[in-house]
Amino acid sequence: MGTLIIRHGTVIDPARGLEAHRDLLIKDGRIAAIEEKIEAEGAEVFDASGLVIAPGFIDLHVHFREPGFEYKETIETGARAAVAGGFTSVCCMPNTQPVNDNSSVTNFIVERGRAAGLANVYPVGAITHGSKGEQLAEIGEMKAAGIVAISDDGRAVCDAGIMRRAMEYARDFDLPVADHCEDCCLSPGWDMHEGEYSALLGLKGLSGAAEDLQVARDIQLAEVTGARVHIAHISTARSIAFVREAKRRGLAVTCEVTPHHFTLTDAEVYRRGYDTNTKMAPPLRPQSDLEAVIEGLRDGTIDAIATDHAPHHANEKMLEFDRAPNGIVGLETAIPLALDRLVHRGVVTLRRLVELLATNPARIFKLDRGILEVGAAADVTVIDPGRVVKVDASQFQSRSRNTPFDGWELKGAAAATVVGGRLVWPPPLKEHG
Ligand SMILES: [Zn+2]
Ligand SMILES: [Zn+2]
Repeated sequence: MGTLIIRHGTVIDPARGLEAHRDLLIKDGRIAAIEEKIEAEGAEVFDASGLVIAPGFIDLHVHFREPGFEYKETIETGARAAVAGGFTSVCCMPNTQPVNDNSSVTNFIVERGRAAGLANVYPVGAITHGSKGEQLAEIGEMKAAGIVAISDDGRAVCDAGIMRRAMEYARDFDLPVADHCEDCCLSPGWDMHEGEYSALLGLKGLSGAAEDLQVARDIQLAEVTGARVHIAHISTARSIAFVREAKRRGLAVTCEVTPHHFTLTDAEVYRRGYDTNTKMAPPLRPQSDLEAVIEGLRDGTIDAIATDHAPHHANEKMLEFDRAPNGIVGLETAIPLALDRLVHRGVVTLRRLVELLATNPARIFKLDRGILEVGAAADVTVIDPGRVVKVDASQFQSRSRNTPFDGWELKGAAAATVVGGRLVWPPPLKEHG
């Protein structure tokens, strides 16, 4: 493997408390030096003048649809969307077909990720067989095969007793539980957040209480079991308050938020008149919840930004609102949205943004990444906070285009992505033929 120098940029690495002009020397997939001025004969050079050099961004929550739904996304197309969006690592939720509930599926995902040779692809194992919420999955065997967390994401684990046992296993295998919180009894079929807009549109509503109840339940179970619980896609003011309090009590509870939940509200469903690209789980919430999300990002209650990248085919999203599947793609819009909405509006500093996208995700799933130090894996995200981009879904690397942000003009973008010492984005010119 060759030698790469990223020079003249501002290195921001919260894990080391470093924020300074530095050059970065990368050799054989590892960081070889971080100094004020580096020269190396014959090295490939990336000029990062005016740009920020950060530890590679890690997305704790994506849905690549392989195996089973390759027409929506494969591990390769998903990994390509990841690096195009500035992510060097992604954690794949297990709701494929078959579900990732045993080591043969885990092995398959690991191998496909490796073969793609783009982002690092980490599998998340199911909590229960088929994510049906009944019997625990083969957690130990999946851990040995490489899972980094367990989750039945897409569904909630309804039975508190099963969740308690899952947390005991997770604790013993040193895995976090990534928790999709949606109380089953309060969510029998819904289209959007329950409120004035669901009433206006005549759509079935989901109360924020469905999330709040399970967040409260699982914080209690985290206390009982000593497990690490990571609340996925937190979206309500009350849930955030519960997490804030859990942290104050010293519990091992963390949470992530999606870019759409810090950008859009349920008013968007109304404004766009049943556009299914505003349909996701959890649903877009009212302004008061969005404000609580912003406050949680500001005060540190929210640990991470994760996309919940959920590709669906255009034909599926073209169905009526109540029949269309939940979810939007997110990998290629997350960084522009985060820079535009959070950094440029003064909600968080660039340094805090790097914590949300790299330092904390690495810590939460215990990935050996998220730091720029000599000897560390050379995963680097270079961002251009000042570049204005217009989102063009037709140019996405993802196989799917289901986004509510098409056409949006945003300030800030990923400029380059280095994975394992290799500049994987932008692609070398020869790939364009
Ligand atoms: Zn979910
Ligand atoms: Zn999800």
